[in-house]
Amino acid sequence: MVTKILNGLVVAEAIKDSLIERVQKLKNDDITPCLATILVGNDPSSETYVKMKGNACEKLGIQSKRIHLPEETTTKELIACIEELNNDPQVDGILLQHPVPSHIDERAAFEMIAIEKDVDGVTSRGFGKLSFGFEQYPCCTPAAIMAIIDYYDIEVEGKHAVVIGRSPILGKPVSMLLLNRNATVTMCHSKTVNLPDFVKQADIVIAAVGRPKFVQGDWIKEGAVILDAGYNEGNIGDVDYDACFEKSSSITPVPGGVGPVTISMLLKHTVESAEHRANKSIKINN
Ligand code: NAP
Repeated sequence: MVTKILNGLVVAEAIKDSLIERVQKLKNDDITPCLATILVGNDPSSETYVKMKGNACEKLGIQSKRIHLPEETTTKELIACIEELNNDPQVDGILLQHPVPSHIDERAAFEMIAIEKDVDGVTSRGFGKLSFGFEQYPCCTPAAIMAIIDYYDIEVEGKHAVVIGRSPILGKPVSMLLLNRNATVTMCHSKTVNLPDFVKQADIVIAAVGRPKFVQGDWIKEGAVILDAGYNEGNIGDVDYDACFEKSSSITPVPGGVGPVTISMLLKHTVESAEHRANKSIKINN
């Protein structure tokens, strides 16, 4: 069996390419898609992530409105900032970089993001809509996983997908997306007993654990598809790549797998939101 490497860089480029024309069309109608990013404090990794997202926007002609609030910002002040962006008709998407400093009620802040601008899929209302199969922007990493699955034409319906991790931004939403595509989904977490036994039954393995090389080669069923969302210090995934490569039919590398597609999905959601704005203004003008 020849294992196929699911190259996220190729998928990310294809998504970005598909957005160029859409951004131009919006600009022809005097609409510049705009993503507002909010960074609170001076965490160096968060600063880097926000910068990367802003730069990726600008490369594609999407406006990046970067808001940097001081470390001592209160929950109330952060919420006021989000409300201002909610009410700004030029802003299509709002991304609150997390984690925020620990004195801030992060969940309360997320929940204030207007649902139509929740391009990062962080509100619980957005998660509810997504789970019901309604139109809504999923979190970007789950969306990236699905984009890779679609790009490489991986069959989901009827397959057994085992998701390791149940975080609100990754494990839970990706489980819902797979379920909505008629996979049979098993969710594993830190309290799962005999976790390897579940993984051994999986046609599709999604690793979203946050532990380097957690998924072992001898847990993998011959021919399984592996998508590794993990990103640990030293560019190491949540999957023991070399050991799992042997058993899988296809696998995402780290780096160069899910990561690069995640930013592309953020851009895609922002453009989609701007298209909704354009459609609304057409209706109003008519
Ligand atoms: P998280 O919030 O820390 O959640 C980790 C999940 O893994 C939890 O549900 C936890 O279970 C489970 N878990 C932890 N240890 C386990 C163990 N020993 N056995 C079974 N389950 C275990 O992490 P996250 O934000 O979802 O991120 C997960 C990974 O994805 C990280 O490596 C992160 O860096 C990466 N990530 C990548 C991107 C990207 O763009 N590529 C974006 C976001 C995150 P409990 O719920 O029981 O605690």
